[in-house]
Amino acid sequence: MNQAFQPFTPQARTLMGPGPSDVHPRVLKALGQTTIGHLDPQFVQLMDHVKTGLQYALKTQNPLTMAISAPGSAGMEACFVNLIEPGDKVIVCQNGVFGGRMRENVLRCGGQAIMIEDPWGQPTDIQKVADALQQHPDAKALAFVHAETSTGVRNDAKALCALAKQFDCLTIVDAVTSLGGIELAVDDWQIDALYSGTQKCLSCVPGLSPVTFSQAAIDTIKQRKHPVQSWFLDMDLVMGYWGEGAKRAYHHTAPVNSIYALHESLCILHEEGLENAWQRHQTLHNALKQGLEGLGLSLLVDEQYRLPQLNSVVIPDGVDDALVRSRLLNEFNLEIGAGLGALAGKIWRIGLMGYACRQDNIDYCLDALGKVLNR
Ligand SMILES: *Cc1c(COP(=O)(O)O)cnc(C)c1O
Repeated sequence: MNQAFQPFTPQARTLMGPGPSDVHPRVLKALGQTTIGHLDPQFVQLMDHVKTGLQYALKTQNPLTMAISAPGSAGMEACFVNLIEPGDKVIVCQNGVFGGRMRENVLRCGGQAIMIEDPWGQPTDIQKVADALQQHPDAKALAFVHAETSTGVRNDAKALCALAKQFDCLTIVDAVTSLGGIELAVDDWQIDALYSGTQKCLSCVPGLSPVTFSQAAIDTIKQRKHPVQSWFLDMDLVMGYWGEGAKRAYHHTAPVNSIYALHESLCILHEEGLENAWQRHQTLHNALKQGLEGLGLSLLVDEQYRLPQLNSVVIPDGVDDALVRSRLLNEFNLEIGAGLGALAGKIWRIGLMGYACRQDNIDYCLDALGKVLNR
């Protein structure tokens, strides 16, 4: 019999890597509901509810808040292609994988990227950013990653945005891993463009990217000299679809069932309370850290910059990185992440994101890791 045409039933895993993370059972159930038309009045109303839910989660009143019908990387691209035009200067902070992708986006928009580089495992140095803003008063935007999933470092989003505003510079923020896991306040921090993802701390399936744009960002988009090079991600067009009140113009077919899933995950976040969710990630991170130390393991990142939802564990000398991870997966159905780039082979990345961030998961992970390491 041809395996290719047999039903696919995945072995269940516990997802404690850099994403996707465990999806909440309620979200999976919402996903499986009957599909309706994407212009059905019921669905139009659901889109408004999703917008309200995202505004809550992001702490923003921005009317232009929605989910792009594609993963976090598309949200990243949406921010850059709409705000950056050929010749624009953008100051990009890089201290891991994702800052490098921001640079790539700037270049593909025909912009010039002024790079502020810091070692992987360290936060972006605010002083260097201040110097760059001073040196490049014509910079249009400052772009940085709030939660660097490749290293487990938290960049000081509030301070970076405050600095950018002193220089009348737009801010573009990657909040893919931060949303729902650590403090994030779009309006208070004066973030102009932000993208996130559904598969990290929102306990939702992969494939959608929440984004939000401030009034200053919208004004910038409206004053563009060149049309946005991406038709699909052109916010002017997408706005007509997600826009309030106005008659919705067909733009593309929304991933209807995925929007059910996102809506359910936002309901779950609201029931728990945003601040409580941040606190849960911090409290359980502390529990994981203690347990890891009990196994003789240490964390890469200094406590003051450490992300609770992404724990970079230093691999002890003489331990076979790939073997440990494959045993965890094959014998315990537990997925943790490998190091990337400069940190490949040096760290494991243990995620505590959203629904995966639970005491029973921590107990399970520590037990499995202890058994594998003792062999
Ligand atoms: C996961 C991640 C992305 C990319 O999101 P996808 O949904 O995989 O496209 C971007 N930035 C950061 C910081 C991430 O952790």
